This record gives sequence, structure tokens and C-alpha cells, in this order.
Amino acid sequence: MNEKTLAIIVAGGCGSRLSGMKRSHPTDSALPKQYMLLSEKCILDHAVENFTSHSQIDHVMVVIHRNDEEVYNNLVSRHNKLLPVVFGGKTRQQSVHCGLIAAQKLGFGGPVLIHDGVRPFVEAETISSILDSISPGNCAIPAHPVIDTLKKCGKQLEVLETISRQDIYCAQTPQGFMADEILAVHNNATENGDDNHPADNFTDDASMFEMAGLGVKLVISSSQNFKITTPEDLQRARDIVSDKTREIAKLHTDIRTGNGYDVHALSPGDEITLCGHKIPFDKCLKGHSDADAALHALTDALLGTIGAGDIGSHFPPSDPQWKGAASDVFLKSALAMVDAEGGIINNVDLTIICEAPKIDPHRKAMRENLAKLCKLELNRVSVKATTNEKLGFLGRQEGIATIATTTISFGTRT
Ligand code: MG
Repeated sequence: MNEKTLAIIVAGGCGSRLSGMKRSHPTDSALPKQYMLLSEKCILDHAVENFTSHSQIDHVMVVIHRNDEEVYNNLVSRHNKLLPVVFGGKTRQQSVHCGLIAAQKLGFGGPVLIHDGVRPFVEAETISSILDSISPGNCAIPAHPVIDTLKKCGKQLEVLETISRQDIYCAQTPQGFMADEILAVHNNATENGDDNHPADNFTDDASMFEMAGLGVKLVISSSQNFKITTPEDLQRARDIVSDKTREIAKLHTDIRTGNGYDVHALSPGDEITLCGHKIPFDKCLKGHSDADAALHALTDALLGTIGAGDIGSHFPPSDPQWKGAASDVFLKSALAMVDAEGGIINNVDLTIICEAPKIDPHRKAMRENLAKLCKLELNRVSVKATTNEKLGFLGRQEGIATIATTTISFGTRT
């Protein structure tokens, strides 16, 4: 005998209330409900993972219907701690019994938790509390208080009686026992029953324990640890999973990318401004403002991450107040808008396209300017340059263009 902790997950049912007899694909509504998908994983896989990922659980055994071996192998991940499947019986009680017998053969004599394969949301704290509450002669079960008013009805749905809900709880799983005690209780029930005997009608294992005169202790748990039985339950479970997925996505992966492009024409002059840095040159860039194509492209990229239009919609060229303006005004405005939405810039990357002037001697000053404006470390700021191979208007040095890309994380600010 070993004292290791075992979780037995019972998944032998055909799920007649949700499905029929055909068993093939996870999107097929005829599948037993434990194999239906919640997000990308089936319900049973969620349930199994709650136990295989728990530090106090040493092994997990799943009891399945004999006909479901292929679908089980296809849909349930090869989690650590998983033992080979055990085939169940006609009823839940028989399936649990099959699991307990298999556990005994494998030498398990310590705590055992018995869980429904269609309860995918059991919390780690509940599993811990159940394990901590098991003692010889006493089992522990999770339960939550009844909230609704209880009515007892007759055959015509006429109310006969309102039942006090005080001290009434809904029992859930996992239910925790000492392996030898619950096996003895099951053995006894089987010996005293036959196929039609009421001894086979227990809907949970704690009631059998209770009937045997042993102790049952409640651990208060969440109503979210519900059993998926009806189509409404399945929809509720899918809503919970998609809410969780959205929350995780919001916290960890709400990373948005924005791009911007700008071009300004060159005309005779003595300097150009790119990235807020003045470069002596025999031409200047034409535009209503200082025509800094690099800052304009970056401003558009920033606005692109929050769906806030483009530079022209915020600072129309027709507005005289922007005549000759230094373009850092536009950039700072876009930065403030991103900041107001909780955005944190990961990086900015610019490519300046021109035949002349040479960008390389000015690259460091440009990056430092951008880093200061965007409040970024220098290694998050990139300025690259390329020519247009003398092709087109850029190749003929009629203008200078810039492409900008930025990635920004949202929703991670604490
Ligand atoms: Mg522009």
C-alpha cells in the first residue's frame, strides 16, 4: 500500500441530456458532454488539469466508458500524473467502484478524491481544503449554500410546501475519502444490491458513506464548481472560459501594432529636419509644419494603436496655427493620447527612404531625440535608412519618405 494521494475522475456517462449515442468529433453535439469543447479543450481535459496541476495530488485516474477510448485519447492531453484509463460500469456508482478497485490493485491506500468529469471549474483551494479535512472515519465534500427559495411541488406543479433553506447546501465534488474506507462502503453496497437494487442509485459517494454511519464534513466552495448537465450549463461554462480568456489576453497579450507613412517634397534650401534633428543639406522639406516626415509617420503609427485617426484629422494642414510648427507637438499629443488609454510603448522602428543626405552620421542623434520624446530606452528606438535605388520620385530626390512601426502594450499598467 502507498499513501500517495489519488484523484479519480469519473467520466463514464453518455450524457443523455446533452447528447445522443453517436461519438465522433468534439464539435459534434452528439458527443458525450465531457468531450465537448470549452474553448480549445474538452470539458474533461479542463477537469483533469485541475488535479494534475495541483501540488498535493500525486496521481490522477480517469474512468471512462469502454466505447470512448478513442475519443478520450484524441481529446484529453497527456498530462503528467495521469494513470492509464479504467473502464467504468453502467451507472456512476459502478464506475466509481471500478476506479476504486483499480486503485486498490495499484496499491493506493491513502486519501482519494472522487470528482465528476463534467465539473471543469474546481478551484485549487477547494481541492486543498478537502484533502486537509479528510480523517479516518470522516470524508469531506465541497458544498455551497442554497440561495433560492425551495418549493416542494405535487404532480401538477402545484406548490405543496415551502422548505426552509436554512442549513441546506448543494453537494459538489471532489469528495475526499480514505481509499480503504470508501472502497469498503462501495463493496458493501454492491454485495447488497443487484442491477435493479436501490443500492446502485446513489448520486454521490458521500451519501453512501453517510448511510454506512460514517462522518461527512462540508467544505464551503464556490457555486462556479457546477456540474455541466444541461445546454444552459454548457453555455454558462463557455461564457466563463471566454471571459477568462479575454481577461488573460487583456493582461498579458493586449499588444497592438501601429504603422505610419509620410512623405514630403524637397525644394531648394539649406537644411531638413528628421526625427526633430536638423541636418544641413542643400534642400529643405516642403510642408505646412516643419515637414518632419519621420515624426509625422511615427505620430500616425501611435494613433494607429488606439484607432484615433491620423495626424491630418488632429492637426489639419489648413489650420494656420500649425504653420511652421515643430513636429514634436504632434508626436507629444499622440503620446499623451496613448498614455491616457494605458498604453506602454514597447518599441518604435523607423525606416527613412532617401538617396541623400546620408542618414547614418545622424542616426545616433535621431534615436536619442526619439528616445527622449517617447521616454524609451535607446535599444527600443530604431532608425534605419535605405535608398530607393534611384527609382521613382524618391530615387530622383524629389522627396523623402518615412515608414514607422510601433508596438504598444495596453492594460498592463498597475
Ligand atoms: Mg507630413
